[in-house]
Amino acid sequence: MRRQRKAKIIATLGPVSSDAAMIRRLFDAGADVFRLNFSHGTKEDHKRRFDIIRSLEAETGRPIGILQDLQGPKIRIGTLKTGPVMLKAGDMLEFRLDREPGDATSVALPHPEVFENMMPGHRIMIDDGKLQLEAKSCGKDRITARIVVGGQLSDRKGVNLPQTDLTISPLTPKDRDDLAFGLEIGVDWVALSFVQRPSDVLEAQAIIQGRAGIMAKIEKPAALGRIEDIVALVDAVMVARGDLGVEIPPEDVPGRQKELVRLCRHAGKPVVIATQMLESMIKSPSPTRAEASDVATAIYDSADAVMLSAESASGDWPVEAVSMMDRIISHTEDHKLYRSIIEALQPSPEDTTAHAIAAAAADVADAIGASAIVAYTASGTTALRTARKRPRVPILTLSPTIAAARRLALLWGTHGVVTPDITTYDEMVDHAKAHALEEGFAKSGDRIVVIAGIPFGRQGSTNNIRVARL
Ligand code: PGA
Ligand code: MN
Repeated sequence: MRRQRKAKIIATLGPVSSDAAMIRRLFDAGADVFRLNFSHGTKEDHKRRFDIIRSLEAETGRPIGILQDLQGPKIRIGTLKTGPVMLKAGDMLEFRLDREPGDATSVALPHPEVFENMMPGHRIMIDDGKLQLEAKSCGKDRITARIVVGGQLSDRKGVNLPQTDLTISPLTPKDRDDLAFGLEIGVDWVALSFVQRPSDVLEAQAIIQGRAGIMAKIEKPAALGRIEDIVALVDAVMVARGDLGVEIPPEDVPGRQKELVRLCRHAGKPVVIATQMLESMIKSPSPTRAEASDVATAIYDSADAVMLSAESASGDWPVEAVSMMDRIISHTEDHKLYRSIIEALQPSPEDTTAHAIAAAAADVADAIGASAIVAYTASGTTALRTARKRPRVPILTLSPTIAAARRLALLWGTHGVVTPDITTYDEMVDHAKAHALEEGFAKSGDRIVVIAGIPFGRQGSTNNIRVARL
């Protein structure tokens, strides 16, 4: 089984997508990676889905990536004494560090880090930004704020503080516990929510120790200020437009998305566009035209993957959402303007042998009309470098471990195959031909471009390029 498109699809699993039959349908419709969202559900729920994905992988023979998304330090107000209250613009609201139930004048905010870092003038957004306040006075256990945009306030609503640099770890005790669980069952990727600074990534790296790829979710303005350093440290990036679009004005999200995709492409790191992509399909079998256009924009920018959240986790049309995404991607990639747009965004070459070989493979393959690039990649680095060039032809990645192949499942333009390490040059050519044939990437008489590092089995040494005819 091979897919005919370049960009990948990440589908979030949830209440409507928990049984084997439904997960199989999502895979058949086009999901390449499944996201387990640890903001919801129990460990048992996630473990059940995890096991189903692994058996699906065994059944289909296709490596499938599993992304564990950690909740992160989401800030919430406490409960209210007598249910929802109305907040009126112009009134004042007090936030208290204690946990006493609140009312229309005073609510609990049991997060000490907020009181340590908040300053007068900072914005306080509640319930995805529906309510907006401005801090007026900030004490060590009390903040008073003026209500700028009022509305209904109910129990445990989420709080966003775009201007407040919180000196907290992105890993809460719950996250640490969930992460230990994820690593134990063997997730392929871990997404860190609300990353603010490079040291947040280092903290996660110290725990993960290479057992999973690290994806930084960019959803805080603080992260945008240090984005180059963050991108340099992580293995992938998610443009988490849900929270980002609350923390920065919605009109700034599209430009930031473009910047992030470009930065990641330059760095050769996979980048995922997430949230509200086909939002209306939670309730409707077809998307709005604006949503179709939004997915297409991510594809024209050449993001590695696009993601579904509630659409596939809790909506009424999970399979339709995946197949709609699949069709939008394919049609966009087939559009006559697609290649010229992609090529206009080509990142500049890098001056290492490995990069130059990967780039040359893409150029050679395009120039001679090869059927595929076959890349031997143990760590995945050769695949990342080749995909960075966004070649016209498919990239068949050959990895000695299933772990490496699963991690590459979200990488643009690639089709992963697990195969034992090769030891000789002839083997390199023969196995590449055999896999290209077997996976349906080439037929007798076609040419393929093979890249590998010699001596074989040593990482990070791509230095060899070979054109072979089947
Ligand atoms: P979430 O992250 O769904 O975990 O909040 C994505 C986003 O904020 O866009
Ligand atoms: Mn988020």
